Amino acid sequence: KGERLRLPPWLKTEIPIGKNYNRLKNSLRDLNLHTVCEEARCPNIGECWGGGEYSTATATIMLMGDTCTRGCRFCSVKTARLPPPLDPEEPYNTAKAIAAWGLDYVVLTSVDRDDIADGGAEHFAKTVSHLKERNPQILVECLTPDFRGDLAAVEKIALSGLDVYAHNVETVRELQRHVRDPRANFDQSLSVLKHAKKANPALLTKTSIMLGLGETDQQIQNTLTELREAAVDCLTLGQYMQPTKRHLKVDEYITPEKFAHWEKVGNDMGFVYTASGPLVRSSYKAGEFFLKNLLK
Ligand code: SF4
Ligand code: SF4
Repeated sequence: KGERLRLPPWLKTEIPIGKNYNRLKNSLRDLNLHTVCEEARCPNIGECWGGGEYSTATATIMLMGDTCTRGCRFCSVKTARLPPPLDPEEPYNTAKAIAAWGLDYVVLTSVDRDDIADGGAEHFAKTVSHLKERNPQILVECLTPDFRGDLAAVEKIALSGLDVYAHNVETVRELQRHVRDPRANFDQSLSVLKHAKKANPALLTKTSIMLGLGETDQQIQNTLTELREAAVDCLTLGQYMQPTKRHLKVDEYITPEKFAHWEKVGNDMGFVYTASGPLVRSSYKAGEFFLKNLLK
């Protein structure tokens, strides 16, 4: 190992564009919203914004700025010990813009803000409540930090009116130290997911794992077992892609067949849904999966 692997053909394929895509793309102008979909040049944008069978448009919005207090070895977000302060108007303005945009399902996520007492939990919760007030139909998922295990912060968000509480364990238990910032760990993340459910049993909880970082099949299996034991409802599995040369190398490109295998394993284990594929990201077609599985 040590050499960069070549990109396999299944990661070079064209991705379809659904019918809402142009409508959303055009109406985004003037709203001053920063989507992760556009800023990270996510390859799934045509599918997520376009909607599919259920015509459910999904997008991801980043709150609390673009600078993180942590430095995970897989992530290209910029890092500082003391990022600029929060914009107190952001919850209101963002909610207003999202409500005007015409989305069906929104994922609100953020950098980690270990410099703020509640990690920004209040800020998240306010955004959700403003948004639901304006648009009660919109489905809201929060993809949150671990708040250093501060369960009061988790609870604040769990009770804010959202539909899905997501927090990513990112990788199997054994590779946590290798992949994530040292302030993160598997048990702390599991406790966030458990606590969100306990605080609000009507919520769906959701997590995501990247594959191709050197994990074994047995480690993946054990991780899924632990997640089910923690009553996590939804699971996504995708290929880790190295963002720059300074980040962790890809250990292996997992084949689409192997991803399909894990999707079947997840479904057999009783997750409400498992989305698994080379290009799947934590928010991939989240609205489509939500409706498809909750309407069945
Ligand atoms: Fe946006 Fe997430 Fe879909 Fe990518 S996977 S387009 S970031 S909602
Ligand atoms: Fe990136 Fe999140 Fe890690 Fe910050 S905490 S470096 S945003 S993955």
